[in-house]
Amino acid sequence: MQVLLWRYFAIFTVLIVAVVSIVCFGTLNSAYSNQARDRITTIGTGITEFVKRNPDSNALPAITGAIMSYVFSDGVNVYIIDETGDAEFLTNDLPSDWDGIVDEMNETVNGWTENRQVIYSSGSMLNYVSCVTFNDAQCYLLVRYPMYIMQESVRSMQIYIIIIAAVAIVVAFIISYVLAQRISRPIRNISETATRMAKGDYSVQFASAEFEEIAQLSESLNYAKDEIKKSDDFQKKLLANVSHDLRTPLTMIKAYASMVKEISGDDPVKRNKHLQVIIDESDRLTGLVNDILNASKVSAGLSELNKKVFNLTDFIYGIMNKFDYLQETSGYKFFVDIDPNLYTLADEEKIYQVIYNLVSNAVNYTGADKCVYVSLKDCPEQHRIKFAVRDTGKGISDEEKEHIWDRYYRSKDAHARPVKGTGLGLNIVKIILQAHNFDFGVNSVKGEGSTFYVDFPEVSSNPGE
Ligand code: ADP
Repeated sequence: MQVLLWRYFAIFTVLIVAVVSIVCFGTLNSAYSNQARDRITTIGTGITEFVKRNPDSNALPAITGAIMSYVFSDGVNVYIIDETGDAEFLTNDLPSDWDGIVDEMNETVNGWTENRQVIYSSGSMLNYVSCVTFNDAQCYLLVRYPMYIMQESVRSMQIYIIIIAAVAIVVAFIISYVLAQRISRPIRNISETATRMAKGDYSVQFASAEFEEIAQLSESLNYAKDEIKKSDDFQKKLLANVSHDLRTPLTMIKAYASMVKEISGDDPVKRNKHLQVIIDESDRLTGLVNDILNASKVSAGLSELNKKVFNLTDFIYGIMNKFDYLQETSGYKFFVDIDPNLYTLADEEKIYQVIYNLVSNAVNYTGADKCVYVSLKDCPEQHRIKFAVRDTGKGISDEEKEHIWDRYYRSKDAHARPVKGTGLGLNIVKIILQAHNFDFGVNSVKGEGSTFYVDFPEVSSNPGE
């Protein structure tokens, strides 16, 4: 990439320098000769006018004075030539090829015509000719402008351009190299870091860079890395915990089954007690497997929420009925306070998991009085339905409150009865409610129990209204 970038930068700058140089080179000559033509026209017309006003040798000092200013400032030679080719007036000695100059002038001008001006170049001289009357004779005013001075300055300018272009190209190469390095280095670093990460080293850090896009890429990759690390840690933990949690009930089931077979088979009281342990442990195994399946299902497929309007009142009653057996078998007391005919819009199947998990937790963690309070209250002014489940257990400390929603978090505190949970329940609740964008949370005072709540949006029973 670096070489490629360098090559592109270099080609680009060389092209620009080349185009600029060629344009300068090409236009310099014509710009100069145009300038020279303009200048000689100005000088020629000026002198012509002056000669017209002073048309004889009597005015020579005045003529000479006026003309000499041009001679000195522009380096021109001025001649007034009569029809025989003799110079009536001259500012310099006649050049050695005078006859040739006169012949060329006659050929170009082709006959005396008043008010005529001709400009032509011969060799390194630019010539201006006009027809004037001098000393009562028809004459030509010839102004010769030496182009070689200009050509020399053009040539030296061109040499400068070549030198400047060469220096610019070298500088461009160096700058392109440095730039290509600066752009490609952070990308190379990112790619090296990604390779290390792919090999399982999550301690790597994607370095930020001065270019905003690359800095953003690094930031996103760092985020992705942290998430992969979390997921990796979670999987390792899950595997360790799940295998431990699965092994415990399985060992119990095996032990109690052996006991029934060898010891208590004939004693109905003992046998029933042992069989009850087997049933409890099997239930626990089922719960464990269900939680794990739900957790992976929820994390994998929450993008597709299947929302519909349903009667939340009946729905909560339906769930509470499932807990009825606990009143009869284990002495739990459920206090249910539910407003009638409340409708909400949500994914019914997923909300079932939420309510079921929250009530199960209240059952598991409530105090020795085994009381669980469930309420569903209408708040019409906020268009909300407030669901709450309260228990009388040990409560949750402020520090713990931050973690209970994390995957696989389980309190180390001893509760009224030992609960064999997975630490997945509240995480499932969180993922589902966040996907719905519902408010939820927990209020708890240590030692006084906890209240978990969810705010449902209230909708009309008729979805069309
Ligand atoms: P599990 O109940 O399977 O351990 P959860 O994700 O449902 O997992 O709960 C995580 C932790 O939050 C529990 O281990 C417990 O410490 C705490 N917790 C949940 N509900 C309650 C509650 N009603 N009272 C006290 N602590 C609770």
